[in-house]
Amino acid sequence: MAEKRNEERRLSRRDFLKNTGILAGSAALGAGFLVGCSQPTDKEAAVPANGGEKWDHEADVVVIGLGGAGASAAIEAHDNGAKVLVLEKQAEENHFTNTRMSGGVFHNPDPSGDRAARVEYIKAMMCGKNIPWKLEGEQPHVSDEMAEMFADGIMEVEKFLMAQAPELDPAGMAPGGDASFPMFPKFAEAKYGRTVRCRYIDYQKADSNLKPYEQPKLTKSSGEAFHWALVEEGIKSKRPEIEILYKTPAKRLIQADNGEIIGV
Ligand SMILES: Cc1cc2nc3c(=O)[nH]c(=O)nc-3n(C[C@H](O)[C@H](O)[C@H](O)COP(=O)(O)OP(=O)(O)OC[C@H]3O[C@@H](n4cnc5c(N)ncnc54)[C@H](O)[C@@H]3O)c2cc1C
Repeated sequence: MAEKRNEERRLSRRDFLKNTGILAGSAALGAGFLVGCSQPTDKEAAVPANGGEKWDHEADVVVIGLGGAGASAAIEAHDNGAKVLVLEKQAEENHFTNTRMSGGVFHNPDPSGDRAARVEYIKAMMCGKNIPWKLEGEQPHVSDEMAEMFADGIMEVEKFLMAQAPELDPAGMAPGGDASFPMFPKFAEAKYGRTVRCRYIDYQKADSNLKPYEQPKLTKSSGEAFHWALVEEGIKSKRPEIEILYKTPAKRLIQADNGEIIGV
């Protein structure tokens, strides 16, 4: 069964490559996703996204976008044995994400809080029913499973960041604020209130004449510290085998006849 599935995958990959007119031989072997130039739409044909350069890559996991979410996904996939390729539409020297420009403040609930209460509080955050002016209602098909995952994942964020960048400042990551919705159900039982800000040591000594992204590493804080820990340290320094293609916007997903997504 697995062999048949692999063969189907190989065939569909070959078809994909044949259609693109790119070298088929080596890229058709192995299991994973493909990235390459596919048939351009009329609009793309008029203005080739990459200046007409042809290329193809194969990986087990293709991550689209190198913000905090993409960087974390790439690190996790890599550490679980996957060959990972990241596509990022911005240039490396001008890579400014929401993550990088954010306050870098994240929830860090007290570990002695009740997990079931944490799930309920997170579900409340995922719907609008506790906020009178919001129209969204609960979506259990999304929020139940997501809240369970989130309830465990949220407890790992600080540890995950510190593992990428040990020079982050644990003192600076101490509780510094309150979560936004203390009126939501189970907030108190979940002990969800703590928020912390990401920062490297020597934070106070940052040169205020420099822009955040110009600060030396150890004076970085907020989203800039978050970005640095994940992208510069977690990926580029610690996991250089994760390939990042900058100036590479993903245009659309490529699907096999059976609906399986086989490329981008
Ligand atoms: C000023 C500001 C302050 C904030 N403060 C906080 C805060 O303190 N705490 C908090 O929790 N949240 C905060 N947020 C929100 C938070 O920053 C975002 O929700 C979070 O960073 C989103 O992360 P992301 O990885 O999903 O997206 P991003 O960080 O935006 O990364 C997306 C990446 O994908 C790339 N990309 C997009 N489309 C494509 C494509 N087609 N192909 C290839 N690449 C692509 C982009 O270039 C970018 O690099 C703040 C946001 C802003 C703007």
